[in-house]
Amino acid sequence: MVQSAILGFPRMGVNRDLKKATEAYWGGKLSQAELLAEAKRLRLAHWKIQKDAGVDVIPSNDFALYDQVLCHIQDFGAVPERYTKDGLDTIDEYFAMGRGHQKEGVDVSSLEMVKWFDSNYHYVKPTLQDNQTFKLVDSPKAVVEFKEAKDAGIHTRPVLVGPVSFLHLGKADRGQSVDPIDLLHKLLPVYEQLLVKLKEAGADTVQIDEPVLVFDLPSKAKAAFKPAYEKFASLGDKIPKLVFTTYFGDIVHNLDAVPKDVYGLHIDLVRNPEQLQTVIAALGPKTILSAGVVDGRNIWKTNLKRAIETAEAAIQKLGKDRVIVATSSSLLHTPHTLASEKKLDPEVADWFSFASEKAVEIAVIAKAVTDGPAAVREHLEANAKSMQARATSTRTNNPQVKDRQSKVTEQDHNRKSEFPTRIDAQQKKLNLPLFPTTTIGSFPQTKDIRIQRNRFTKGEITEEQYDKFIEQEIKDNVKIQEELGLDVYVHGEPERNDMVQYFGERLDGYAFTTHAWVQSYGSRCVRPPIIVGDISRPAPMTVKESKYAVSVSNKPMKGMLTGPVTCLRWSFPRDDVHQSIQAQQLALALRDEVVDLEKAGVDVIQVDEPALREGLPLRSGKERDAYLDWAVKAFKLSTSGVEDATQIHSHFCYSEFQDFFHAIAALDADVLSIENSKSDAKLLRVFVDSAYPRHIGPGVYDIHSPRVPSEQEIKDRIEEMLQFLKPEQLWIDPDCGLKTRQWKETKEALVNMVNAAKYFRTKY
Ligand code: GLN
Ligand code: ZN
Repeated sequence: MVQSAILGFPRMGVNRDLKKATEAYWGGKLSQAELLAEAKRLRLAHWKIQKDAGVDVIPSNDFALYDQVLCHIQDFGAVPERYTKDGLDTIDEYFAMGRGHQKEGVDVSSLEMVKWFDSNYHYVKPTLQDNQTFKLVDSPKAVVEFKEAKDAGIHTRPVLVGPVSFLHLGKADRGQSVDPIDLLHKLLPVYEQLLVKLKEAGADTVQIDEPVLVFDLPSKAKAAFKPAYEKFASLGDKIPKLVFTTYFGDIVHNLDAVPKDVYGLHIDLVRNPEQLQTVIAALGPKTILSAGVVDGRNIWKTNLKRAIETAEAAIQKLGKDRVIVATSSSLLHTPHTLASEKKLDPEVADWFSFASEKAVEIAVIAKAVTDGPAAVREHLEANAKSMQARATSTRTNNPQVKDRQSKVTEQDHNRKSEFPTRIDAQQKKLNLPLFPTTTIGSFPQTKDIRIQRNRFTKGEITEEQYDKFIEQEIKDNVKIQEELGLDVYVHGEPERNDMVQYFGERLDGYAFTTHAWVQSYGSRCVRPPIIVGDISRPAPMTVKESKYAVSVSNKPMKGMLTGPVTCLRWSFPRDDVHQSIQAQQLALALRDEVVDLEKAGVDVIQVDEPALREGLPLRSGKERDAYLDWAVKAFKLSTSGVEDATQIHSHFCYSEFQDFFHAIAALDADVLSIENSKSDAKLLRVFVDSAYPRHIGPGVYDIHSPRVPSEQEIKDRIEEMLQFLKPEQLWIDPDCGLKTRQWKETKEALVNMVNAAKYFRTKY
């Protein structure tokens, strides 16, 4: 028979229970025992959901209080000394690595956290020493949780991050120079012990995640698979059988690194269905193929017919006993259950499938290929109906949008004149001093703002009252900027709940959920809006607020928009049309907004694209070039409808552009503001090397901390920047928006920033 498998389940619980519990624990409102009991309750509940759905292979050790890689760091004894030296207990040491610890005389910052492949989940980076040793803890979490499930009558398949991925995803600690992959021989004994313990506990298979196989790997990392998996193979029956698991990309370019005699190999056939035959051809004679056919990264109902066809194609070559059907990746990236969505339009709700529903889908697919489609006829019929309804719905298809897209010309992507002409026209209008100062858009989102927004959402105050409140906030923000002496003002974004959701709510083609939270990092969850159909803008989205801001200020006012690529990346995208098409639709909607802002007297317009980089395909080459091509075009299409005298800004929360600087330059934004306070000013060299002609505002201070930078610090920073940028190019601004800050520190920091800018004006 063909088995069904899930690679991992979301941990938060139906009501973000884990978030609530961990935050209550951090806040001293829940004891450690209570936190652990809640975690156990969630694990059991999640196993039961999968079991009740009829899933054959249910994962364990996919749970984590903060992050699964962090759990491995601790269980492998790879905790840097700064976290162990104060004698924190295991749980507090774990959280200290995840989020820092500043209590009772202990003061350590967190380990670095970065995006998990191209998802919006963040993992904690293994941070290793030159003399790193590893030691398995006495009660490894994988073993404990396997037994926990077993005691509850559920036989699970433990999930481990594989040794090559663990090391390749890690880094040398500060001041250390070790290449993590060189530590493989020291790490393998730990895996060996862990696998033996799992076997003793009763595990017969283990899912060993080696997703780094989808990258372009350095030869050393690629070569590491062989010794690692040969070692495991040599252990024979002493350890469970291993399912070597890859996802988020194809592995065709690295097939030679897949261990030949491994028990199972999992591949992502949602992302890369075309790899199936090549992988099958390269499979060891007995290796089982785990076919990832249910999307772990998106919320669409699986097209069962298509998924079954894919599984059948594999079965035809390998036979039923050598195929498992599975989710493409862990379901961590999907919300818990569609059942919580009480407000969704039923037409649209019928198109979705969250983690709990995907569990049913995978079981149905397995049954269909095992017993034949007749065994699940009702499911298949209902599914076909949903697919048909979605494909033909007027919500999906808007002929006017398609018509407009068909008329987009090359010229629509370009500004009227080249930058030198534009900047002259802009300068005439804006009259800015040298080293102009500005901010990135948002000002502190105070408690009062949240309260009023909540009251408005609940209908406790009228729209008129809420608008009045927002106007007052804007007026106050303008006043503060006047006092600070900034040069280009912003309205402060008090009306925005979130930089993508706010636009999504005002665009046709989007759907919103109430409970569809997805873990981003630690206890932080996001609720991405869903792009369900062709996107259009029924009415202006930000003009009212910006126009009001212009009317109460005596200096240039910058309008704020979220760019097309960021809107797309931070939403659940459609899976029925290419992302480039969705980006273009968003771009056209934003283009209208940009032009309307210009008409309303907004002379400076910033279109933020902080998510541009994370959309970069994982491998260089054709796919990456194609992405950059359409992403840049979308940005240009959204910003080039304006006159020369209107100044277009863009903002990115990073400055590591080396890999794709040509794309950043191609955006042709008049002014770019980028993060730079935490990065090396040397990164600005790319602007020099490419003789970048336009203006740049590298952030002069970090906005993620309440710390106030001194005037001198900012001056030093500007001095460094001037080694790379011309004075007439340089803008002075913070790293990013200020919404998470308090007013007190915001004002103090901005006073120092403005003074530093003034100082340089006297020098040049
Ligand atoms: N304009 C946005 C803000 O200031 C930009 C946020 C971001 O780059 N993440 O909040
Ligand atoms: Zn930013």
